Amino acid sequence: MSDLQLSCQCKTITGVVRAIKPGKGMRLVCYCSDCQTFAKHLAPAGGILNQYGGTQILQIAPSMIEILQGQQHLRCTRLTRKGLYRWHSACCDTPIANTVSRKIPFVGLAYEFISDDQDVDGLIGPVVGTNKVENSLPGLPDSEKFAGESRKIKLLAIAKIILWKLLGKSNPNPFYANDGRAVVKPQVLEV
Ligand SMILES: [Zn+2]
Ligand SMILES: [Zn+2]
Repeated sequence: MSDLQLSCQCKTITGVVRAIKPGKGMRLVCYCSDCQTFAKHLAPAGGILNQYGGTQILQIAPSMIEILQGQQHLRCTRLTRKGLYRWHSACCDTPIANTVSRKIPFVGLAYEFISDDQDVDGLIGPVVGTNKVENSLPGLPDSEKFAGESRKIKLLAIAKIILWKLLGKSNPNPFYANDGRAVVKPQVLEV
């Protein structure tokens, strides 16, 4: 197992995912409309979404990720008062991660936050599934829909979260203080 190096585009915020190997996290492409809305908010000129409106995330446990420097440049946005916590960098608007709450041991690490000067595919493995392909833009090839896998992937994702919870992998958590509050007060867009 190796470490996966993380950095925002301008390298002000850096971090690491410890002891990663293919299959330990889950590499997914999300086509949900909320992710599309947020990507357009963060980068109106484009550059985050793939041509079918998808964004790649690596689903990992909170204790696997550590922010090493630039914490003060972390920002958090929620599309609605109850929406996901969407973490990004203030320095260069790089998406960093999505989280649900302090209690749910889940981090959807944004692919853009993974440094590209390493063997990313070798470290995290290939894309294994998708979320909400029904919201993708027209033209998504069947080979990228992972249609036959979707039920299996959802169950596996839930199983991992339950396992991480049992193993206490919510702690330490770089995005929440011990009282459950986000380390940065989220800005709510209410779109
Ligand atoms: Zn930056
Ligand atoms: Zn999404």
